Amino acid sequence: MLIVPEREIAGLVTPEAAFEAVEAVFAAMASGTAWNFPVVREALGHADALYGFKGGFDRAGMALGLKAGGYWPRNLETHGIINHQSTVFLFDPDTGRLDAMVGGNLLTALRTAAASAVSIRHLARQDAKVLGMVGAGHQSHFQLRAAVRQRSFERVVAWNYHPEMLPKLGETAAELGLPFEAVPLERLGAEADVIITITSAFAPSLMAAHVRPGTHLACMGTDTKGKQEVEAELLARATVFCDEIAQSVTIGEAQHAVAAGLIAAADIIPIGAVVNGTHPGRSSADEITLFDGTGVGLQDLAVAKAAVDLARARGVAIEVAV
Ligand code: NAD
Repeated sequence: MLIVPEREIAGLVTPEAAFEAVEAVFAAMASGTAWNFPVVREALGHADALYGFKGGFDRAGMALGLKAGGYWPRNLETHGIINHQSTVFLFDPDTGRLDAMVGGNLLTALRTAAASAVSIRHLARQDAKVLGMVGAGHQSHFQLRAAVRQRSFERVVAWNYHPEMLPKLGETAAELGLPFEAVPLERLGAEADVIITITSAFAPSLMAAHVRPGTHLACMGTDTKGKQEVEAELLARATVFCDEIAQSVTIGEAQHAVAAGLIAAADIIPIGAVVNGTHPGRSSADEITLFDGTGVGLQDLAVAKAAVDLARARGVAIEVAV
């Protein structure tokens, strides 16, 4: 059995490697060779923690396992470690034996950013020049880094509910060589060709009227019942894509539009169908496309498997006899 510790992940898994792994597993999900298991998420009644499991099996990529982890809100102040903690466990699909234990914290950010990047590659207009960011927290930096690889973006416009967080995101844009401007939502919607939303909001910030025809949106923050980043009406105006329909309609951005009767589950297209070429994706320069990325267990397994393969090749995995 191999252990790939959290400290090794940054040196092993690049945004490109995460992109390839996530794009491939979305394709496998859409063609029916990979599927996610029901998600378990529980309030522990201890340390105010939320804890759970996301698992699945990818028969094409031969990845079987789960990510175990959750959110401990006082970790940083009490223990000096980040509040989100997770570990991925990979099993041998032929025998059920434990193959690897992989630190899942950085991988979660990489696989989430890779998902929106996959949506941008397959759905944004080729001539997209302005990237709009709604959100400036931990994940936003990974989102920005992954997104800029997909189109020739010339500048970034950004809005955040807590404006004091924006300068740090501006530093990341500067590192990437992109001009960065904090703007009101009205301007963000009027100027951006691609918009990423990555907040923990429970009420919409970005409204349908803010968004112009031809925009591609990757809505990445809503991963729980009750969360919401964009007005439900926007999903009615857009062609809606997702990682997995079952999650999109229950814990994703689409939960609100479906509950309001504005769209039905049958209207939502798995992004893997576009990757596979069984759905054409964007059909016109004026179409609004919206990717509802909820985060599935198979994404975690895909990037963890990539980490194990790289760790093995570079001799940095810790081997434990079992
Ligand atoms: P964070 O705590 O670092 O940042 C939170 C962000 O939300 C900040 O930009 C903050 O200003 C903003 N925000 C907070 N309250 C708000 C409000 N009331 N209205 C509008 N914005 C508000 O969190 P993070 O690690 O960057 O994660 C952001 C979101 O992404 C969370 O909801 C998290 O659960 C989600 N997430 C999704 C996936 C996925 O696969 N889809 C994966 C990881 C995290």
